[in-house]
Amino acid sequence: MTLERVCDDCGARTTAPAARCDCGEPLWLATDPGSFSWDDVSDSPGMWRYEALLPVGFPGGLAAAAGGTPLLRDDALDEYAGTTVHVKVEGSHPTGSFKDRGSAVGLAAIESGLVGDAAAVGTVSHGNMAMSTAAFATAADVPCVVFVPDDVPQARLDVIGQFDPAILTVAGEYSRLYDRTLELGPDNDVVFLNSDVPLRVEGQKTTVVELCEAFAPDVPDAIVLPVSSGGHASGVWKAVRELHEAGTIGRIPELYLTQAAACAPIADAFERGDSTVSRVEGGDTIAYSIANADPPSGTRALRAASETGGAVVSVTDDEIRDAQRVLATQAGLSVETASTTALAGTKQVVERGFVDSGDDVAVIATGTGLKEPPAEGSHDPVGTVGIDDIDAALGRFLGG
Ligand SMILES: *Cc1c(COP(=O)(O)O)cnc(C)c1O
Ligand SMILES: [Zn+2]
Repeated sequence: MTLERVCDDCGARTTAPAARCDCGEPLWLATDPGSFSWDDVSDSPGMWRYEALLPVGFPGGLAAAAGGTPLLRDDALDEYAGTTVHVKVEGSHPTGSFKDRGSAVGLAAIESGLVGDAAAVGTVSHGNMAMSTAAFATAADVPCVVFVPDDVPQARLDVIGQFDPAILTVAGEYSRLYDRTLELGPDNDVVFLNSDVPLRVEGQKTTVVELCEAFAPDVPDAIVLPVSSGGHASGVWKAVRELHEAGTIGRIPELYLTQAAACAPIADAFERGDSTVSRVEGGDTIAYSIANADPPSGTRALRAASETGGAVVSVTDDEIRDAQRVLATQAGLSVETASTTALAGTKQVVERGFVDSGDDVAVIATGTGLKEPPAEGSHDPVGTVGIDDIDAALGRFLGG
């Protein structure tokens, strides 16, 4: 079976193992949802319920832990955001983010021979994607190479390193590496599972297929998620279009994408009313893992927001900190800074009147905050007490 790829922007099709169209935009796999309905879900675990919408079936192993993430509600979050919030907890994945969905599909495609000869899998990342790709690769017994910039802190390398990939630190302009690896991969039998490649996008469709099944027969009014490269947003948009085309959902929810104000090329383009995204000079933000100044699927993400009647917004570091604190202290959820832009952005789109206060809004908490200390800083002990004075201390704690 050959995988056909299609460009959603210019309509070109190809069977070459490319990630980019000649027009420069990212390619999608050409897929046909047919008349998919919720009766067509399979008995496979997690995201593999939707095998009918994926290019490959459940391969066993670690892939069993991809998808199937919980959706939860907490009144305190409604109060904070000013609308009805449903949180999709992607941090419950084995490596703590939705990246596991795309990694699972990518490795399943390699294991099943769907992408031809593959000597290894690779990625360009020093964060969640590196961890996720390395974990799924080692579980599938496929060699993995990870390219990181040469100034990455050792602690970050050690977290990625626990899954035993070959890590290569790269000197020079790291931003060029993304496209360079996509060009070099096919000739070297290395499948690069970078952020927005077609196979990863297929896996990342399932975040929102799960969401829609949880809401069936209703549809959430809006879906809010953070955006960096645009790969996740691309998958989310492809999914809602496929479900709509199949008649599985009656309307397409509005898609809202969130960025950090210090580095917000897609939100800037949206504000200006531009139809394409151009590179910006990005500044520092505590949401460093979504600070992508030149997003490869930026224009695709921009279209996802505008064509669904949504928006792309940016939030300040203070708003990000605030949302992170609310999620942890009110809902008991540890969510990473990049990811808390979604709740902060939800509050903003309600305040700006894009979303009504009665709307059902699905907020995708894309990654766990448990990999690093919270942005707000340290939490001090309320006191120190001798072992023999614990009963008195408990009494004081209980207000006695
Ligand atoms: C990768 C990542 C994002 C951004 O996703 P893109 O596909 O690059 O737009 C957002 N949140 C978390 C936690 C991530 O790991
Ligand atoms: Zn094209």
